[in-house]
Amino acid sequence: MEQPYILLTPGPLMTSETVKKTMLRDWCTWDDDYNINIVQDIRARLVSLATKQTSDYTSVLLQGSGTFSVEGTLISTIPANGKLLILSNGAYGDRMQQIAEYANIPHDKITWIESETVSPSKVDDYLSCHTDITHVSFVHCETTTGILNPLQEICSVVKKHNKCLIVDAISSFGGIPYDIGELKIDFLIGSSNKCLQGVPGFGFILVRKEALLQCKGNARSLSLDIFAQWDTMEKQSGKWRFTSPTHVVRAFKQALDELDEEGGISERHRRYQENHKILMEGMQAIGFEPLLDTFLQSPIISSFLYPTPSFSFNSFYKELKEKGFVIYPGKISEKETFRIGTIGEVYPDDFKRLIAAIATIDVSKNLKGNGSQK
Ligand SMILES: *Cc1c(COP(=O)(O)O)cnc(C)c1O
Repeated sequence: MEQPYILLTPGPLMTSETVKKTMLRDWCTWDDDYNINIVQDIRARLVSLATKQTSDYTSVLLQGSGTFSVEGTLISTIPANGKLLILSNGAYGDRMQQIAEYANIPHDKITWIESETVSPSKVDDYLSCHTDITHVSFVHCETTTGILNPLQEICSVVKKHNKCLIVDAISSFGGIPYDIGELKIDFLIGSSNKCLQGVPGFGFILVRKEALLQCKGNARSLSLDIFAQWDTMEKQSGKWRFTSPTHVVRAFKQALDELDEEGGISERHRRYQENHKILMEGMQAIGFEPLLDTFLQSPIISSFLYPTPSFSFNSFYKELKEKGFVIYPGKISEKETFRIGTIGEVYPDDFKRLIAAIATIDVSKNLKGNGSQK
């Protein structure tokens, strides 16, 4: 089927034809062809992508979008007498707080504005004064803006204080190289439909085995209990507790094969950086200003300020969609922005075409209230 426009979004995103084609076959969830050859293979490969210390780590796959895996991790990890510290500089950090509130997980939160990174020294001070904290969670790439939090520095501060460390790496895992063993991360959360370029349907948790074993009996939910999910997958060779998204999982295996063919995470990172560079230079050349300082910006997704106060995102969006590109609205409260993603099955040439298309749009005509809005 022909794709009328390409998605420049942070997920669901563009996937390859070959990934989509694998979904044309049906699978039995009880059969070894599915459980051993696909699920167990994926679980082991995810661990190998995440760390060289493969014997210390394991992985759990969980139905649902990325948020289900974040929620599964938080509700399974923090015991009744524990306390979570959430570090937030955007909507996904704030979502962790919502999860904690729903589940009655005792928690504190430190907040930064959306255009600033989490400050490791502030975390250090906070943990020195608040010794009741047992777990710390934060988002690596805050997709709200595209800002990249200083992963290594935050991990090292949290581990200096000996806290259990939970990282939402949903928008960065597979697109930015790091080793979770070297960083001493206890729980790292990812999803099928971001930088690994699968289709949406499940998330995964890469976890230090020792930390996972301590989760037994903690869960405040049946279907999101990541210990129980892992236990079944381990004991029954890849079986999911409840119906698994078989087609999505099969497509994900193909997506991992294609990541290998591309040369692994470092090569994919290089492509995303190239996409990002063309986007940034091109947008600035035609008069759009990025929200963030270059050194804070991830190669995953970028925010741009509205070019004029009367700019209409809706009509800009529609014109660009007609030209073959779907972009993303902004998500921040402080300033009016829109976002363009650089991840997925998209290449430098796509961004050259995008810039050429945007250059032909007269943004002075994209004014609010000119009748072209929804
Ligand atoms: C996409 C994303 C999630 C998950 O969002 P869903 O809407 O559940 O897919 C969580 N955290 C971050 C940082 C994300 O980019």
